[in-house]
Amino acid sequence: MIPQEKKRSWAEPYKMKMVELLKTTNRAQRLKAIREAGYNTFLLKSADVYIDLLTDSGTNAMSDRQWSAFMLGDEAYAGSESYFKLEAAIHKYYGYKYVIPTHQGRGAENILSQIMIKKGQYVPGNMYFTTTRVHQELAGGIFADIIIDEAHDPNNLHPFKGNVDLQKLDELVKKHGASKIAYVTLASNVNMAGGQPFSMQNLKELHTYTRVHGISIIHDMTRVAENAYFIQQREPGYLKKTIQEIVREICNLTDGATMSAKKDALVNIGGFMATNDPTVFEEARNLVVVYEGLHTYGGLAGRDMEAMAVGIKESVDDNHQRARIGQVIYLGEKMSQYGIPIVRPIGGHGIFVDAMAFLPHLSQDQFPAQALAAEIYLDSGVRTMERGIVSAGRNAQGQNYYPKLELVRFTIPRRVYTQAHMDVVAESAALVFQRRKRINGLKMTYEPKYLRFFQARFEKL
Ligand SMILES: *Cc1c(COP(=O)(O)O)cnc(C)c1O
Repeated sequence: MIPQEKKRSWAEPYKMKMVELLKTTNRAQRLKAIREAGYNTFLLKSADVYIDLLTDSGTNAMSDRQWSAFMLGDEAYAGSESYFKLEAAIHKYYGYKYVIPTHQGRGAENILSQIMIKKGQYVPGNMYFTTTRVHQELAGGIFADIIIDEAHDPNNLHPFKGNVDLQKLDELVKKHGASKIAYVTLASNVNMAGGQPFSMQNLKELHTYTRVHGISIIHDMTRVAENAYFIQQREPGYLKKTIQEIVREICNLTDGATMSAKKDALVNIGGFMATNDPTVFEEARNLVVVYEGLHTYGGLAGRDMEAMAVGIKESVDDNHQRARIGQVIYLGEKMSQYGIPIVRPIGGHGIFVDAMAFLPHLSQDQFPAQALAAEIYLDSGVRTMERGIVSAGRNAQGQNYYPKLELVRFTIPRRVYTQAHMDVVAESAALVFQRRKRINGLKMTYEPKYLRFFQARFEKL
């Protein structure tokens, strides 16, 4: 069938100039590898992995322009030229006034949390993120989830599952008073909900509400351009606006930001903190020296800042996002056709398989998502990761969080794999789905104190 004009296929807005050869393994090798890794895909060696969908963090393929920019890196300890280029890119594309580079997102979260949270204050957010919440809690804050209920339901088709529930926020403010709210964390394209966007309408309402109550909005802008793409495609009035314009509009409605540039900004390492508040900036510029490095490099090499400046520009390109999210949707549709239960609507950075629906014979204490990720690796060497009870960890009293979503994340690195790789991934998931009834759960044999999902070990039940 000849495609309709409007439904023309997307294609990658780049071609290959260099390739990285992949490694293949057999089942016996993979069985040995996953056992040695304690059934935790984070503990696998990448040499034992075929297609690596562990994360979209720092796994981006840089462009020829970014690699060229590397050569321009100014490695001066203080006042690096590369810092000023990064600052200029952030001013231009995001619009925040003051910028502090950090080695990655969590470096920014650490500094910001220490400055802006007083012990016992609440930090409401549209769902938690692992490192964000840990830094908030280490700074004495209490996280409160104010995302809309729809976000916790993998089958709900709400187009903006990343939205803040203003009523939940208002209840928190009424109960404790606005002075007990450190700030609101607003994540774009909410990772833990499956890469789900908020709408501009919702952000505008949140902006109005927080102005009335004197509360700041801190934007976790790790995936802001992906969020902007969904606003462009789904929200009335935005189809004619560019992603660049929408990104800027989002940033303008917030007061500061933390950024892991390892995602949206198309680099392998880097991040920053930004703010419009001169007092916060003053303190951050001082504190960054303790944890990261001088305020004009923040733990990064000059070349890293160069590459980030170029990556920020490339990330807001409409064709880039169309192909990026097009590929994610392609994989999701293919998996759906095989009957695999996935989170809907399909999000921006990966496909999230509903492990409780996939393995209904396992209880959440048997770590269904962890078990499923191990099983997919065993089948094909495709590496995915758990986003469920293991990632959720324990509260300050030591009790397990029981998240409503128990997911396996197939995260797609940007500009790295082809559509044929996506076919191979979907087929592997389908074959595991066919023999799902024979998949056993796991028990945890080692649990680290912080962010346990990275290093926990398991055995087959
Ligand atoms: C990755 C991530 C972070 C932390 O950033 P790092 O660069 O990994 O330290 C914070 N928030 C979100 C939403 C992320 O996805």
